[in-house]
Amino acid sequence: MSTKVAVVTGSNKGIGLAIVRALCKEFQGDVYITARDVGRGQEAVKSLNSEELKPMFHQLDINDLNSITTAAAFFKDKYGGVDVLVNNAGIAFKVADTAPFDVQAEVTLKTNVFATRDMLTHFMPIIKAGGRVVNVSSFVGSRTLNQCSAALQQRLRSDDITEEELMGLMQQFVDLTKKNEHKQGGWPEAAYGVSKTGLTTLSMILARRLSRERPNDGILLNACCPGWVRTDMAGSKASKSPDEGAMTPVYLALLPPGATEPHGKFVSEKEVQPW
Ligand code: NDP
Repeated sequence: MSTKVAVVTGSNKGIGLAIVRALCKEFQGDVYITARDVGRGQEAVKSLNSEELKPMFHQLDINDLNSITTAAAFFKDKYGGVDVLVNNAGIAFKVADTAPFDVQAEVTLKTNVFATRDMLTHFMPIIKAGGRVVNVSSFVGSRTLNQCSAALQQRLRSDDITEEELMGLMQQFVDLTKKNEHKQGGWPEAAYGVSKTGLTTLSMILARRLSRERPNDGILLNACCPGWVRTDMAGSKASKSPDEGAMTPVYLALLPPGATEPHGKFVSEKEVQPW
């Protein structure tokens, strides 16, 4: 049987690195740290080597389509596809950041929504039967959904929203922020929040598509919240360690063979949450 492989984006530090640490201990196969910066990625490999763990490394900048397609081709060629994909890479502006809101909206959605969607576009076709896909979203996305207009909430919660419609709505939010008309458009003042609303909705859309198009492949795809975790993103006052934050993403990445759920859900503390 061919070697299994797990790939974690943005895993040179923070929650991503902790996910790799746990997978190195619990996943039967090769585990890849991926990072946009080769130096930071190799440092991360060394840090886990010093814990007697043996992750591998591949460069992957999710904002660079060429980097995505190169990585996808590498995993297809070397492993015949990917068994576990954790889309963890993400960004957030600090609360104190003075960048204009429209810039924060454009930059945040670029990585958290559009680049993550590019990852999914190029990696979903190579996810192997029995595979697990985990998108690291946030509770902030659920809270932000509740702050959207009733019409937007209806679309974002509907079972028939398409990937194209969702991407159109995400782009509409970015465009409206440039004219400072996002509030009239039904959106709250929350760039990171809208990005995570989008990522959770995208996860549900793609899970429904998997069920339709690959019903016998047993692939499970979910979005999750890691909790409030002490990382460069959330700061030192957060309540969880990175290893604690990794628990729910790792639980979803290692759902046992033959499991049929959760699938297409938003999961926190290993529990399916309302959407
Ligand atoms: P960190 O800022 O510590 O780590 C983010 C990681 O993503 C880094 O490795 C960073 O790489 C990487 N990254 C950013 N952009 C790209 C890119 N274009 N391509 C590849 N990698 C990229 O954040 P956390 O560990 O806290 O966050 C991880 C995920 O968890 C994010 O999606 C975040 O939104 C989510 N989350 C975090 C929470 C928390 O409390 N910390 C709460 C809820 C969700 P680099 O070092 O090169 O910048």
